[in-house]
Amino acid sequence: QDLIIAIDGHSSTGKSSLSKLIAKQLGYTHIDSGAMYRAVTLFAYQNDLIEGNKVLVEQLVPRLEEIFIDFRYNTANNLNETYLNGVNVEDEIRGLQVSSMVSPIAVIPEVRDYCVALQQKMGENKRIVMDGRDIGTTVFPNADIKIFITASAEIRAKRRFLEFEREGKTISFDEVLKNVIERDHIDSTREYSPLRKAEDAIEVDNSNLNLEQTVEAVMKIISS
Ligand code: C5P
Repeated sequence: QDLIIAIDGHSSTGKSSLSKLIAKQLGYTHIDSGAMYRAVTLFAYQNDLIEGNKVLVEQLVPRLEEIFIDFRYNTANNLNETYLNGVNVEDEIRGLQVSSMVSPIAVIPEVRDYCVALQQKMGENKRIVMDGRDIGTTVFPNADIKIFITASAEIRAKRRFLEFEREGKTISFDEVLKNVIERDHIDSTREYSPLRKAEDAIEVDNSNLNLEQTVEAVMKIISS
């Protein structure tokens, strides 16, 4: 069976790790839609289109056509890594600098149209697991399976904090929590295609589940 599986939810719920494992079990391709918004944000930084915490929207929009994003599978670490104009930016797009400006960038309708078109193209042949914020509502409203992942903000921030710590990055817990809350707020209150649970999505709260248990819960939904 060729399915499109949409996994949406709040920031730092482990959607990407979850989607990666689900895709692996099914022999599908995983697409991290957030990586595209992150790559656009990095492009904006690289081209001085962000001043302080202000995005120069009028200057960014006409330059979207200069942005080429693709994913390449790295067999050494089994990761589908993000490339921006041919350069591997997988690490750079995960830092707090990009994280702090990605939601204001993702508010811009032209940026969303650009990313959504790319996502729809990547899903043309089905057999994909795509994670994001509006996959079940806007990108693939007819997805075969829709999951919405959530968890308490403190638990999500703690997970992200421990991840940063493991990578040797020194960031305070409060800073991480603030970023998680801020992104949720911007993502769910934007006018154009906000973060929202699709009516026909099944919600999974993984506050008290580890990754393995979350995979199990979602696989059960997929096979039921
Ligand atoms: O999933 P991730 O946390 O990497 O996404 C980064 C940001 O990209 C989100 O906070 C959100 O602002 C934006 N995003 C979005 N729509 C998606 C995926 C991500 O607006 N489908």
